[in-house]
Amino acid sequence: MSVIYNRVALIGLGLIASSMFWAIKRAGLAAEVTGYARSPETRDTARRIGLCDRVCDSAADAVDGADLVVLCVPVGAMGAVAQDIAPALKPGCTVTDVGSVKRAVIDAVGPHLPQGVHFVPAHPLAGTEHSGPESGFATLFDNRWCLLVPMPDGDPAATDRLRHLWEGMGANVDEMDADHHDLVLAVTSHAPHLIAYTMVGVADDLGRVTDNEVIKYSASGFRDFTRIAASDPTMWRDVFLTNKDATLEILGRFTEELFTLQRAIRTGDGDMLHAYFTRTRAIRRGILEAGQDTSAPDFGRVVKPD
Ligand code: NAP
Repeated sequence: MSVIYNRVALIGLGLIASSMFWAIKRAGLAAEVTGYARSPETRDTARRIGLCDRVCDSAADAVDGADLVVLCVPVGAMGAVAQDIAPALKPGCTVTDVGSVKRAVIDAVGPHLPQGVHFVPAHPLAGTEHSGPESGFATLFDNRWCLLVPMPDGDPAATDRLRHLWEGMGANVDEMDADHHDLVLAVTSHAPHLIAYTMVGVADDLGRVTDNEVIKYSASGFRDFTRIAASDPTMWRDVFLTNKDATLEILGRFTEELFTLQRAIRTGDGDMLHAYFTRTRAIRRGILEAGQDTSAPDFGRVVKPD
């Protein structure tokens, strides 16, 4: 693969930025990658593990001369970071982000960017429950989707170039309007995370009553909720605060469905429950057919002998 941007700057050096760095290096997509994180500890770690060709002590230094600047900080911090780097941006460069919510990022970042700088918001649909500079790996985006959310008056050539970068990092790329993105993600990611957080919270309360049986027997389904509910608290706080309307809309529908199932259980309506679970099982089949998960039992976990 050939170089797509001469210099890429990663602002924020956590899971997504570090995975981008290793994926860019794997395919040789940039001649140089600079990086910046606000805390000296993260910058020291990055230098120690060779994350970025050059780790800078200010965001302005990191973006100086960069052809692509990627904002990899929590959604609620995007506006302040954009304001900080705006005077140092190279004319004609592209600024993108990886935030999990798009409308709020566009509103927060857009006004700070100078004329002549292209803004192409993006969101890779890939992650783990781990965070920080040491959590990234080159294959995170392989065969995962990255959604680009081009500005209506943006330059199509800037979007195309970013698309090539994401494809080079292994992702499949689609384009979407910001509000549609936020609604789709509320269904596929944001509401499920809130439900997982709630379920783990409920079980934790119960766990105190039942002497930790909740943890001991967690393999029976609860364990998968705990993985999701271990995700970064700052990131997810920002997601819910900035994708409020779409998340509340989906949670409203969820609550209605829950009441319907509750009534079916109360009235012993087995036909209804069976039909409902048959429909949901077909959705899982669709995800497997789309290559978005493994068909191995228990997500391919290897059971270690005692
Ligand atoms: P992460 O591993 O927690 O790293 C976050 C980075 O942002 C760290 O370098 C941190 O700096 C910096 N940061 C935190 N608060 C900041 C602030 N107020 N001002 C400036 N910098 C700040 O996060 P991540 O998982 O890579 O997520 C980054 C972005 O990707 C978020 O917008 C998230 O919504 C999006 N995203 C995440 C996932 C996922 O599954 N994790 C998936 C897709 C998209 P320090 O290290 O110095 O504290």
